[in-house]
Amino acid sequence: MTKEVNLTEKLKHYFGFDKFKGDQESIIRNLLAGRDTFVLMPTGGGKSLCYQLPSLIMDGTAIVVSPLIALMKNQVDVINGISEEDGVAHYLNSSLKKAEIDNVRADILSGRTKLLYVAPESLNKEENMEFLKSVKISFYAIDEAHCISEWGHDFRPEYRKIRHAIETIGLAPVIALTATATDKVRTDIIRSLGIEDCAEFKSSFNRPNLYYEVRPKKNDDDTNKQIIKFIKQHAGKSGIIYCLSRKKVEELAAILQANDIKAAPYHAGLDSETRSKTQDDFLMEEIDVIVATIAFGMGIDKPDVRFVIHYDIPKSLEGYYQETGRAGRDGEEGICVVFYSKNDLKKLEKFMEGKPVAEQDIGRQLLQETEAYAESSVCRRKMLLHYFGEEYAKCNCGMCDNCLHPKTKIEGKDYLLTILKA
Ligand code: ADP
Ligand code: MG
Ligand code: ZN
Repeated sequence: MTKEVNLTEKLKHYFGFDKFKGDQESIIRNLLAGRDTFVLMPTGGGKSLCYQLPSLIMDGTAIVVSPLIALMKNQVDVINGISEEDGVAHYLNSSLKKAEIDNVRADILSGRTKLLYVAPESLNKEENMEFLKSVKISFYAIDEAHCISEWGHDFRPEYRKIRHAIETIGLAPVIALTATATDKVRTDIIRSLGIEDCAEFKSSFNRPNLYYEVRPKKNDDDTNKQIIKFIKQHAGKSGIIYCLSRKKVEELAAILQANDIKAAPYHAGLDSETRSKTQDDFLMEEIDVIVATIAFGMGIDKPDVRFVIHYDIPKSLEGYYQETGRAGRDGEEGICVVFYSKNDLKKLEKFMEGKPVAEQDIGRQLLQETEAYAESSVCRRKMLLHYFGEEYAKCNCGMCDNCLHPKTKIEGKDYLLTILKA
């Protein structure tokens, strides 16, 4: 594309927004120029638009690889809602029937489909690759690209085969997008997709409105009491409580309900109808508190979640950052509390024993980093950002327990020690 496109006008025309957020415009220009692109932006930063807008401008169909069927459907509905024509966006995944697939293919061949969302399994299917060979592809967008890496919090082996699929279907620029910022994940993504010469765009991961706190966990009974007290102090506010096991989720939800708190459990063991009702009730504020396993949250866009509590220490700092990131998306208060005990750490280590050695090694290292975070007396924000390769210059953020209530030297661990361990 040689001529300069007025992107602001396109943005207004298609999405109704007046200006770009963060690096969106440079990212889009880079992609329009045909370059591979790597985008690191925290959740809520506006990654989708970085591929949606150029797909509507460019010739051909953009392929968007995305891991979750629910998210795909949602995005497709949004795009079709803003387009004058039908079939501008479609998705291909295992939920479609034969007739629906035929319809999608017909729309693609007619040239009206600008965006095709695919699950990685569907992309890698022989018959789909064969079909897509005959289609003009504008570019490939790999959303939630951290799924490529075992160092990410949501590894999907099928993501590893994307490069092969691209080579089979036909080369076109690749844009990889993720909110997962560790260097190991980044390297994995770039290597696996073969985009070593890509332009990289990284936004800051600092969330200044989030308050971080680590509380010692004595026992379940004491933790339950603290949580009930906390919720009562924030009556009527929306919050999420993460637990590691389904059993704990059920137990705690029942305890909260017995204490007149509008709470509901959420985990992958519940049927999809119950889950989607719970989600809706939470969005509509029929329910204040969701007690959930990490199955809850990806793609949930409730801007006014006021607190995220971790009943158990998370398996990785990466996961912790993502989960706490669901608080305060509107920029207002967000309180993030995690309960920590050495015992829980030992339990998590025990869980890993049956797994393959390589997986155990990764798991242990991730746990050590979480441990270092929990035991440190250094500013939590500084540690979290350091984990993502970002230096936080201030020494007192004023928005974490360690900055507000500094520990004595004997109580706290040396910063150097934690850094060396990480
Ligand atoms: P991410 O995938 O990075 O988590 P999304 O793509 O879901 O973020 O976008 C988050 C929110 O920001 C969405 O509600 C989206 O409509 C909004 N958004 C994106 N770009 C803009 C913009 N330029 N101006 C205003 N709102 C935007
Ligand atoms: Mg996204
Ligand atoms: Zn701090």
